Amino acid sequence: MPAPPPLARPDALHPLLATVLDALRTGAQRRGGPLPAGGPAAVADRMHTTLAPVLPDTGTGAQEALRTLVTALTEGAADPADPLCAAHLHTPPLALAAAADLAASALNPSLDSWDQAPAASALEAEVVRALAAEIYPRAAHPDALATTGGTESNQLALLLAREHHGSVRLLHGDGAHHSLRRGAWLLGLPEPVTIPAPGGTLDPAALDNALTDLPGPHLVAATAGTTDTGRIDPLPDIADLCERHGATLHIDAAYGGPLLFSAAHRPLLTGLDRAHTVTVDLHKLGWQPAAASLLAVRDTRTLDVLAHTADYLNATDDTDAGLPDLLGRSLRTTRRPDILKTAVTLRALGRTGLEALVDRVLTLAQELAALVDHHPGLELYERPTISTVLFRPTDADDATVATIRRTLLTEGRAVLGRAHADGRLWLKATLLNPHATPGDLAHLLKLVTHLVEGSTDR
Ligand SMILES: *Cc1c(COP(=O)(O)O)cnc(C)c1O
Repeated sequence: MPAPPPLARPDALHPLLATVLDALRTGAQRRGGPLPAGGPAAVADRMHTTLAPVLPDTGTGAQEALRTLVTALTEGAADPADPLCAAHLHTPPLALAAAADLAASALNPSLDSWDQAPAASALEAEVVRALAAEIYPRAAHPDALATTGGTESNQLALLLAREHHGSVRLLHGDGAHHSLRRGAWLLGLPEPVTIPAPGGTLDPAALDNALTDLPGPHLVAATAGTTDTGRIDPLPDIADLCERHGATLHIDAAYGGPLLFSAAHRPLLTGLDRAHTVTVDLHKLGWQPAAASLLAVRDTRTLDVLAHTADYLNATDDTDAGLPDLLGRSLRTTRRPDILKTAVTLRALGRTGLEALVDRVLTLAQELAALVDHHPGLELYERPTISTVLFRPTDADDATVATIRRTLLTEGRAVLGRAHADGRLWLKATLLNPHATPGDLAHLLKLVTHLVEGSTDR
């Protein structure tokens, strides 16, 4: 019998890490751009050939498997660290956060019971409370759950509201994230109501009418940073209406939440702390590798409804004897210490470091908008609120816009998103890369305008 493979201890990890880092380098060189060229079929074929067989009779060993598969994955990756990869809220993770995540994997604490995560559970409690206090600076007992993303955070917000009221009707703006409606479906809530957002943000007058006309109880979900345009709903007006109608307010600040770290941009979030619950993602404008998200609550007692007991994890006598009760901190059981990378990031960068990152990315977005605005061949949708810039070639039809995006994707030259606004289709650049330069942005636009010229030449 051969000895079992080594466990994730430093001496065993060290030579494997060298291989992984080499493979990351080699794969990126082979790709040579933000995305693999050739489109889905070429990538799938290459993966198929590389993998076969997925489960060989005799293993190839750690070094070979890591080298082959990490190289192949990197070669076929959409690289968010490439300045021309700007479609989605797909962040380029900070090196220090990725390094911290390795420690989380190696230690593998599980946050469902104290005896699997003594320090990790204490770390999580401290860090989420500190972040909740950033969101709710005036609250006496703010708290937050660490979640896997805005989707889970929004679902939990709906669940907390339902448990509080028995049932709730969700009202959300036209630009709200799809996960809210899905969460309502998952929880069996009444059909959600979409409130018009004629100028890109939820219309308070229409919300007032809906709250007046529809039977409650109501859960209003406002958005601070919509997925399509990055717009922020009029939070103070919405909070006033919720107070007047006795509605619960959730603010989905998955995208915009980290503007709190910036003195210059924090005023955009005025009213955020009037929400009962707030979603903030840190795997977007927080530069964390996924997963890193929070559902913050103004009062920690809001979370009491999640209390749950399983004798093997949090028996009452164990809890009475002082062992922390962790099952009420999530609907998951086994749970990674995703908070470690965030704690490392907060400490390493400090408030000013985070502020500089946020400000830099928002400035880049204004620079891109200005470049578009001054370009005779391009039309700008609007000045960006956060870091999303919508633009399209002047006089192009929607089909041309869609084709430009797909051509850039399949050629592996740039990754742009798409969004409908004003009844037309736009190219969407979502900037998150603090290392991108104005030169990169100009290059991105050149790739688009060359394709337009190419299409009119033909
Ligand atoms: C990204 C996003 C979500 C979904 O978050 P995930 O982390 O992808 O689950 C929800 N709402 C908004 C506004 C978002 O930007």
